[in-house]
Amino acid sequence: MEVVLLGTGAADGIPNPFCRCATCTDHRERGELRTPTSVLVDGRLLIDPGPEAPRQVTRLGRDLTGLVSVLAGHAHSDHLDPAILMHRGWVTDAPLQVVGPAPVVAWSRQWLDGDQTAISFTTVTAGDSLEVAGYRVSVLAANHEAFGEACCYLIEDGSSALLYATDTGLLPETTLAALVGRRADLVLLEETFGPRTDKGERHLHLATFASTLQHLRAIGFIDEGTRVVAVHLAHDNPPLAQLRAELAELGAEALPDGAVIVLD
Ligand SMILES: [Zn+2]
Ligand SMILES: [Zn+2]
Ligand SMILES: [Zn+2]
Repeated sequence: MEVVLLGTGAADGIPNPFCRCATCTDHRERGELRTPTSVLVDGRLLIDPGPEAPRQVTRLGRDLTGLVSVLAGHAHSDHLDPAILMHRGWVTDAPLQVVGPAPVVAWSRQWLDGDQTAISFTTVTAGDSLEVAGYRVSVLAANHEAFGEACCYLIEDGSSALLYATDTGLLPETTLAALVGRRADLVLLEETFGPRTDKGERHLHLATFASTLQHLRAIGFIDEGTRVVAVHLAHDNPPLAQLRAELAELGAEALPDGAVIVLD
């Protein structure tokens, strides 16, 4: 499984264009841009088609001609910009499956005139397990809300497994229970707020990110062979060198937009 991190940032990305905090300044000086979190798997499956995802694909010298399915976790605008479906429709009428909880499907449908028959919609809810683009996808409850249900996903191809967990606060008990007896090769876990613990329960900060990893290790879902990458990073996080050091202590890392991870 090849996983391309198209974006690793929170909704506003880093730098936030209105901000000169140490973290935004650090990213500016590095010439580093974090766009909203989005992932391309094997060129076939696009997870969270946010507003920057199509341009990120282009910046990386790739294209989406091989795309078979789109999987969105929830209907916040940094994770779902349905205009991509319209832009695709101007080029091809090859089949494309769009998968997500009910608000994702409702919002995406609004964008398409009725004759876009190339696109099929699959509404999912936590607890579902289905095949998407040739992968086994387990739908997990997120501790998040976006006009209704929000989901995380476990994606397995028979030899490797990816947990995509954003946006979410501390994982619900049902999600942890669903992961017992399974393991991941790669965990993309959100860590939005860094040291800030006062910004609500619907995202993780460094302390809750740490306790989530501890829990996932305790149930054997994460082991020494699992790579853990913090995503959905907001500028509340410390500048990169400090963030990397803090994440390293937790057995996790921060990677730039465009990073490619190959699982075998
Ligand atoms: Zn988000
Ligand atoms: Zn800032
Ligand atoms: Zn969200």
